[in-house]
Amino acid sequence: MTHTRPSGTNWSGNHRYGATETLLPTDLAELAAAISAAESIRVQATRHTFNDIGDTDGSLLSLERLPTRITLDGDRVRVEGLVTFAQLAPVLEAEGRALHNLGSLPHISVVGATATGTHGSGSANGNLSSAVTALEIMDADGQAHRIDSEHAWFPAAVVGLGAFGVVTAVELRTVPTYTVTAQAFTGVAWDDIVADPKRLFASARSVSVFTTWGDPAHDLVWIKETDADAEPDYVTALGGRPVGDDLHLGRIRTVGNTTERGTPGPWHTRLPHFRAEALPSDGDEIQSEYFVPLDAAADALAAVRAVASVIDPVLLVTELRTVAADDLWLSPAYRRDVLAIHFTWRNDNAGVAAVLPTIEAALAPFQPRPHWGKAFTMPGETIRATLPHADDFVAAARAADPRGVFRNDYLRRTLAL
Ligand SMILES: Cc1cc2nc3c(=O)[nH]c(=O)nc-3n(C[C@H](O)[C@H](O)[C@H](O)COP(=O)(O)OP(=O)(O)OC[C@H]3O[C@@H](n4cnc5c(N)ncnc54)[C@H](O)[C@@H]3O)c2cc1C
Repeated sequence: MTHTRPSGTNWSGNHRYGATETLLPTDLAELAAAISAAESIRVQATRHTFNDIGDTDGSLLSLERLPTRITLDGDRVRVEGLVTFAQLAPVLEAEGRALHNLGSLPHISVVGATATGTHGSGSANGNLSSAVTALEIMDADGQAHRIDSEHAWFPAAVVGLGAFGVVTAVELRTVPTYTVTAQAFTGVAWDDIVADPKRLFASARSVSVFTTWGDPAHDLVWIKETDADAEPDYVTALGGRPVGDDLHLGRIRTVGNTTERGTPGPWHTRLPHFRAEALPSDGDEIQSEYFVPLDAAADALAAVRAVASVIDPVLLVTELRTVAADDLWLSPAYRRDVLAIHFTWRNDNAGVAAVLPTIEAALAPFQPRPHWGKAFTMPGETIRATLPHADDFVAAARAADPRGVFRNDYLRRTLAL
């Protein structure tokens, strides 16, 4: 019999799962039996989302007791079950391989991240989903399917929001390992940041700007560069001064949990902001993020700055990053190079919900797409209007899951699925 446990809350505690229980199958046969018997089921992975995307009024399913084999084959790696980037990266590094990028933390599951379009920074870097070359999915009848780039559902299923079934394994493209040096700078004036955002964000392999939209003491540019970077001195030319050990990310004072700066190291030890063995970020928080065309970055930033006083009471910090365009239908970077405007909020659901419409109205002229895993209040039809293949996604997801076992309120609300 499949073991169960209470479903509990997401990582930050701002969402308590409405599911009755979390099922813990120990092999693929138990997994298939659990799915086939369900009317409604969703996968609960590392729970680092901030909304009800992963919830259901049926049962949740964790893959934590299934095998977690990692298999390299040429430039591809196949990852089974509930593997995190913290588990995957050292295995790749030991074989001289790497991923092209990482998010701000390695604690999250590879499948949960790629299913939601999770990204790092770097104008030439696609999001983490863009490294996916194939998915192995178990459908609502417990049947296994491989969806690779030749499959008609591929551009829908990669950033699939869990709507296509249970992803039992994912295959990713790897690159030769590389070395990264990180450095954080203060002293760059906001006017210089917004004068030429494209140049700033292209000035190193990965560039993040932290701000609280007004206090220059909180403005920080965190750069991660490789030897091949074209213009590593751009931020120092703008007056940037390296930050010492006392690193603040806006109103978050880091406590020995950030990755090393100032020395070269393997990609996976420098690209994330937060160390694998420590609690990332603030912990007691909610996050939101909106993606706007990079071409409109300066105007979009001015629009948010104009409403800064409204959002200030709940804001801990904003982070700005860039993501290169891709071809995945629900990707926030679908056919657009984007600026990602992120907000880490105090852990106050009502306070955050009250300010989100103000930001969304300010960004409306730029057709923002929200991060699927973070808090937003945009109506589904507004989101769908920014995604040319939203209807195609819905058609593919319905074909993949005719019984609607993997659908939930979130998918109905956002995509009319
Ligand atoms: C501190 C912190 C920092 C973050 N930094 C970043 C960042 O730098 N960049 C960024 O883009 N995002 C970031 N995020 C957001 C986070 O990466 C995404 O929301 C991601 O989706 C979390 O994955 P998860 O597995 O933890 O979430 P979960 O909620 O467990 O899963 C996410 C979704 O994927 C589905 N899913 C997971 N596994 C499967 C599977 N095997 N089969 C089918 N469906 C599945 C779930 O049902 C759910 O709908 C951050 C979040 C936190 C808490």
